[in-house]
Amino acid sequence: MNKHFEKAKEVILKLQVAGHAAYFVGGYVRDKLLGIESGDIDITTSATPKEVIELFNNVKETGKKYGSVTVLKDEFKYEVTTFRSDGEYLDNRHPENVVYSKNILDDLSRRDFTINAIIMDEEEKISDYYNSIDDLNNKLIRTINNPLKRFEEDSLRMLRAFRFVSKLGFDIEEKTLEAIKELKFLIKNISIERVMVELDKIFRGEYRSKALKYMIDTSVDKELFGLSKGLRFVSKTAQQLYPIEVFIICYIMDDVEDVWRFSNKNKRLIDQVVDLHEVTKNDSFNRFIVYVNGLDICLMTNKINITLGFNDQEKLIKELYKALPIKDVCDLTFKGQDILWLTPLRKKSWIGIIVDDLKYNVIMGNLPNEYEALKEYALKKVEELRLEMGDTDE
Ligand code: ATP
Ligand code: MG
Repeated sequence: MNKHFEKAKEVILKLQVAGHAAYFVGGYVRDKLLGIESGDIDITTSATPKEVIELFNNVKETGKKYGSVTVLKDEFKYEVTTFRSDGEYLDNRHPENVVYSKNILDDLSRRDFTINAIIMDEEEKISDYYNSIDDLNNKLIRTINNPLKRFEEDSLRMLRAFRFVSKLGFDIEEKTLEAIKELKFLIKNISIERVMVELDKIFRGEYRSKALKYMIDTSVDKELFGLSKGLRFVSKTAQQLYPIEVFIICYIMDDVEDVWRFSNKNKRLIDQVVDLHEVTKNDSFNRFIVYVNGLDICLMTNKINITLGFNDQEKLIKELYKALPIKDVCDLTFKGQDILWLTPLRKKSWIGIIVDDLKYNVIMGNLPNEYEALKEYALKKVEELRLEMGDTDE
């Protein structure tokens, strides 16, 4: 991170040489003072976005509407944001307009929490306008100015408070907490995608349980469309869980509302693990289950089962997987195509039926995965089907 810090200083110096004020701000300064590595570096400046763009070669306008420009140096991102004060908030989330300012105090006053509004100059000198250092030392999350007003302006800030609890293990200051209790209903107005970004961070944090307990105490969990039961459970477990696994637990424990947005891949994953949990919570995994679902899904389901207090079957799953005679239908020594070579067949749909049958019997150990044995079985099956249904054109 030191390398990035040196590069970020170059960004700040370049802005200063061009006659602008520029400081480190936000999460970067907070984390640096706490001795935590930060993923990105935020810089705040009196230069307008246009002036920032003109000064640097490799830039991306990331948040044009809000005055943010990303300066790229060796693949690392430096977020350079123009001092601004926010216009009126009409939708509990976005300011109607932003006004660029030449005064750093305007910029600090629109930030969410005191611990996120510390500035540091290129010589690492700290300026503290909101008693932020006290709050940092006392491990307190406190809004800048009146919490009711700040949460009414932008209700996402309530979830951000829990995100910082989860990341830092801090407490939420009393008035800030009271305001969340009063205004929690506004969380329902936030776009679900933004809520999911915050939940993702809350679920990943080292102090997840503490953050979830705060969410339960303030009844914020009730605003989260069916996640409440699951989150109450997760708040009590120390099990390491990926965010998607937290959601899976929520889906198992309650009727989660159909508002949450997942990629198609994750949607399939959730459905599969929820179903598999139902099948395996009180019964053993078997070869066919392991074959159909694959090792990773079975292990994830087992992890969920353990977390929910059911038996650990990891050893069995791994043994079953290792002993599978085939891992994929392609591994069968006798293929659907072979049936067509060996016998005229009008009903092509029988091939799928027969291959499934072969697959099942090989996996369950009823047939060896050997060409001659499978051929004999397949041809017998064809005859049986002919007798049963007659092989006329489809
Ligand atoms: P993290 O380490 O999780 O990235 P961060 O404090 O850097 O934490 P960001 O979301 O990257 O959080 O935002 C950078 C800074 O911008 C914050 O520290 C805060 O000063 C300000 N900020 C971000 N979102 C808001 C908001 N909704 N309302 C007010 N200020 C905000
Ligand atoms: Mg950040």
